[in-house]
Amino acid sequence: MADQSQKKRIALLGSTGSIGTQTLEVVEANPEVLEVAVLTAKSNYKLLIEQALKFKPNCVVIIDEAHYKEVDDALWGEGIKTYAGSKALEEVVQMEEIDVVLTALVGFSGLRPTIKAIEAGKNIALANKETLVVAGEIITKLAQEKGVNIYPVDSEHSAIFQCLVGEFHNPIEKIYLTASGGPFRGRSAADLEKITKEQALKHPNWDMGAKITIDSATLMNKGLEVIEAKWLFGLKNEQIDVIVHPQSIIHSIVQFKDGSMKAQMGLPDMKLPIQYALLYPNRFQNDFKRFDFLDYPTLSFEKPDKETFVNLNLAYEVMERGGNLPTVLNAANEMTVAAFLEDKIGFLDIGRINGEMLGKIDFIQSPSLEDLYETDRLCREKALDVLQA
Ligand code: NDP
Ligand code: MG
Repeated sequence: MADQSQKKRIALLGSTGSIGTQTLEVVEANPEVLEVAVLTAKSNYKLLIEQALKFKPNCVVIIDEAHYKEVDDALWGEGIKTYAGSKALEEVVQMEEIDVVLTALVGFSGLRPTIKAIEAGKNIALANKETLVVAGEIITKLAQEKGVNIYPVDSEHSAIFQCLVGEFHNPIEKIYLTASGGPFRGRSAADLEKITKEQALKHPNWDMGAKITIDSATLMNKGLEVIEAKWLFGLKNEQIDVIVHPQSIIHSIVQFKDGSMKAQMGLPDMKLPIQYALLYPNRFQNDFKRFDFLDYPTLSFEKPDKETFVNLNLAYEVMERGGNLPTVLNAANEMTVAAFLEDKIGFLDIGRINGEMLGKIDFIQSPSLEDLYETDRLCREKALDVLQA
């Protein structure tokens, strides 16, 4: 067995979610090289307790302070420190015992802890794409200053990262992010008017948290990923293209300047990119299901329908205009998706209101981090007015 000190110690932010629980499966499958130092949840204290008793982290954080007592009582005498509240999240990511912080929180909530982790020099395994969307320039600059690596967990970005191994001296001409097209691929706007949340929550290829599942159905997820790719790989806007590939087998493609293209493929299973991000540059044996060509006689490709799925166009627009606009779009989208999930607005209202919100916040060309927090706050406040009107 490997020396204890050789194990990579992970702070897993959002351990009770879809990425969080799959990360724990990866840790369980690789006990000689991976261990968990921190687990965190927002309100699912029961699962957090169960995970803590099994994985024995140094500490846990429950964001919702109302559940702190249950967590503390259940873990009393186990040698696991317990904390509550968002501030605690920002502190535990800086603990000496951590080698890598895997950010699997949803939305803007991931920004502060990610910044704190980078400031403390911790490498990041990034699932929480929204943080790079809202503050990509600030985060990548800070990471560079601190000598911190950001390993992509998102499957498309992991694919690109894997295609780039051994190619770092070769400039990228272009990347193609693949998109499944979601459950409503091929539908017209008229078809989408009466879509229910139950229909939108059924993704054809991936089993994910509610917010990203709706983002996949509206193509906002791909829009967010375009911006995420820009910052992760230092690309110009026109170097990033999206191609719909309904089978989700090719996870993305890099085209080099000689025209050669490299693609990474495999079954849609987030455990693969999670394992790669945590154990890079090594590939470890696992028993995840293997791809069989005969199950997929056809791999097909088509153009995304940006007229019906307006969010993808909005994402390109805010990437082009820059400043605090990606933060506006992200905040608006978090609000509209939440409203859709509460049956307060229809499916098409998500894109419509997102677009409307872009004109409601003062533009800031070179925002500071504080400007971005304020933009996020203000946009949520104004979106609430629109949603309640
Ligand atoms: P889930 O909703 O399944 O899980 C989110 C996790 O974060 C839970 O542990 C939740 O706690 C916690 N959480 C939610 N809100 C907050 C908050 N405000 N403050 C602190 N903790 C919070 O999401 P996913 O795992 O699906 O997604 C996580 C991130 O990874 C997203 O940014 C998503 O875009 C990205 N991603 C996800 C993929 C997937 O396959 N799921 C694929 C690629 C990227 P609790 O359980 O207590 O609510
Ligand atoms: Mg993805």
